[in-house]
Amino acid sequence: MTDILDKYAPIASRHDQLLEVGPDPLGVCLEEIYSATEARVNGRRTILAGTNNYMGVTFEPDCLEAAEAAVRAHGTGTTGSRIANGTYGAHLALEQALARFMGREKAIVFSTGYQANLGMIAGLAGPKDVILLDADSHSSIYDGCRLSGATLVRFRHNDPADLDKRLARLGDEGESRLIIIEGIYSMLGDRAPVAEFAEVKRKHGAYLLVDEAHSLGVMGPNGRGAAEAEGVDEDVDFYVGTFSKSLGSIGGFGASNHPRFDVLRVCSRPYMFTASPSPANVAAALAALKLLERDPGRRDRLWNNAQAIYDRLTRIGFEICAPMSPIIAIRLPDERSAVFAWNRLLEHGVYVNLALPPGTPAGVYLLRCSVSAAHTPEQVEAFCHRFELVARELAAMDSGETAVAAGA
Ligand code: PMP
Repeated sequence: MTDILDKYAPIASRHDQLLEVGPDPLGVCLEEIYSATEARVNGRRTILAGTNNYMGVTFEPDCLEAAEAAVRAHGTGTTGSRIANGTYGAHLALEQALARFMGREKAIVFSTGYQANLGMIAGLAGPKDVILLDADSHSSIYDGCRLSGATLVRFRHNDPADLDKRLARLGDEGESRLIIIEGIYSMLGDRAPVAEFAEVKRKHGAYLLVDEAHSLGVMGPNGRGAAEAEGVDEDVDFYVGTFSKSLGSIGGFGASNHPRFDVLRVCSRPYMFTASPSPANVAAALAALKLLERDPGRRDRLWNNAQAIYDRLTRIGFEICAPMSPIIAIRLPDERSAVFAWNRLLEHGVYVNLALPPGTPAGVYLLRCSVSAAHTPEQVEAFCHRFELVARELAAMDSGETAVAAGA
């Protein structure tokens, strides 16, 4: 019989190749966390610019205190699902706060953002429906689509005309049609043209679901995300969001004005058959949400930092994949230079994400940076300066100098 893990041999051997040139990019250990923007990595004080901590709230006193008080008051875990083992008052309070924040009648919390997509998509769509999803959708969206059993139609990334064409081609197929897009795409940091998608949705009478994972708190006058920023908040039938980025916690949610939205609580398997979010996570998310409502200036600090970094990296000569946003994806010409640059940045005390195929499209090698409102001007300066050093090292590598590898 074949070894059950043999199918992963090609992936394992690519991973081994990465380990030959430096520390494991898929297993970076944050040995001690000093703040939202700094940790000890490989024994070195390191600026964190790859953690999606957009609002930098993970060490906010309000959030820490709320989480600590919740653990003392409600315990370390919920030990079960809400339908089988009971809802905590804090789950309801958070759902009400999220509904208010998103301007919706109802919100439902899930245990992670991944499960929010699974639970929302597989809860909404069934085998008789058609889902139209952006080709660059996050894995949790693809997995939710599979779980739903619906017919899947992929349209070209960020291309409302292609969606329009595919909807027209459907004819009578599908009892309901659900369009799925993201506000800001996690890898390249590009934004969806939500207003154009909303127009297509209206034309065809489809439902629109927007995953605002990376845009929640980041975009829009009230921080609802990209749809709100484009003035088409009302066209969104279903929002999905996560607590793991701007809210500095773990969990996810769906929000909607659909009058029968709550039926998902007894029909959506990823809601029903897993433990509900822990008291600490719920309390931290609620405290962060209140903080964002109280202090919209955080959003300005985030965008100012993103602009400063974007401008400087562009001046250095890096190719950035999308217009300025808090996700800055730098494209390098090949895998060797991407891995080299990522390793050197880590040695210089800067942590960003290394993104290679198959996580990215074929031929796309990225250093993905996520900017935080909590990055100080000194950290922004240090971060940019270290990119300058690495740009020089890359240039030296290109011209065949080997001194760099010795730590010049
Ligand atoms: N949606 C998108 C677009 C994401 O990028 C992610 C996570 N990176 C998720 C959903 C899942 O969120 P979580 O990590 O909170 O489970």
